[in-house]
Amino acid sequence: MSGPLEELYQAIILDHYRKPRNRGTLPDPTVRMDGNNPLCGDQIHLELQIGPDGKITDIKSSGHGCSISQASTSIMTELLKGRSLEDAQRLFDIMRSMMQGGVVDEEEVGELIALKGVSKFPVRIKCAMLCWMTFAQALAEYKAGRNGSGTVVSTEDDK
Ligand code: ZN
Repeated sequence: MSGPLEELYQAIILDHYRKPRNRGTLPDPTVRMDGNNPLCGDQIHLELQIGPDGKITDIKSSGHGCSISQASTSIMTELLKGRSLEDAQRLFDIMRSMMQGGVVDEEEVGELIALKGVSKFPVRIKCAMLCWMTFAQALAEYKAGRNGSGTVVSTEDDK
């Protein structure tokens, strides 16, 4: 895989890896969740602030891992900030579809498109999806009226 587009995507991933956005923790998060990808050693801690209007008013992440997992987390936090939960769920679905080789609307997904090439490497899909799986579980906890606990572990059978 080479060419101007792939180089651009690679540059976006490296930029997010080197300068991750929305790093840290929140003073009083609405919900939090941990994620772990034992295949690669990626770990993430995610915190969300959800407003009374059902919008994600703030989001922070911490943790460590490979460039794909870290860049994916950084891009995700930027994409999700300010979104309604419905919008966020839709982005999750789009990301999953993209990782399964689906065609996505570049206008809609923004810098997420930089991760499209990952779909060709099954092991790396878990790296890219870890933050999204963690986010989805955080959302499920929130919808169940909880503030989050436990760890999402990526396994062989999920994507
Ligand atoms: Zn990884």
